[in-house]
Amino acid sequence: MGKVNIALRGWRFDESAVFTDDGDIKPIDEMEPTTRERIVRLRQLIDSPCHACWLIHGDSELDACNDAAAVYGEPLSEVVLCEEHEPDFRYWFREQGGADHRGEPALQDAFHEWFADGGRAPEEYEPVEHVDTDPTAVPSVSGTGSAADAEQEAQSVDLDSLDI
Ligand SMILES: [Zn+2]
Repeated sequence: MGKVNIALRGWRFDESAVFTDDGDIKPIDEMEPTTRERIVRLRQLIDSPCHACWLIHGDSELDACNDAAAVYGEPLSEVVLCEEHEPDFRYWFREQGGADHRGEPALQDAFHEWFADGGRAPEEYEPVEHVDTDPTAVPSVSGTGSAADAEQEAQSVDLDSLDI
């Protein structure tokens, strides 16, 4: 079994952690806690604006921010990026010491600082291969409640509608 993206690029899941042997999506309460945490979090992030766009435009111009296309880092301290800004994150992570924060909550702040400071990937830095995802196919979680609320809400939603 391989690894799969669900809804956004970045976080990858073992197929066996998300699917049953028959190829159906597991009930969320049968997933490992770390998998469940990310699936639940993904549902909240799917409608989030790109963090880099947000750093440029701010809360007053949320309409100008692109939708999420990718997510990196740990749940609740992740970095959400649009198509345009994902290469900036990848460049920072690989070439600017970002990888030092792998697995740490500090990753989000460190990237935000670098980007807000004018950090950008060089022109044409490793364009991301297009992956066929349709974020609109994923039901959104309303509001910005606690992780526990989100988990409760997620349990009541039909996971078959997740785009995989
Ligand atoms: Zn962006």
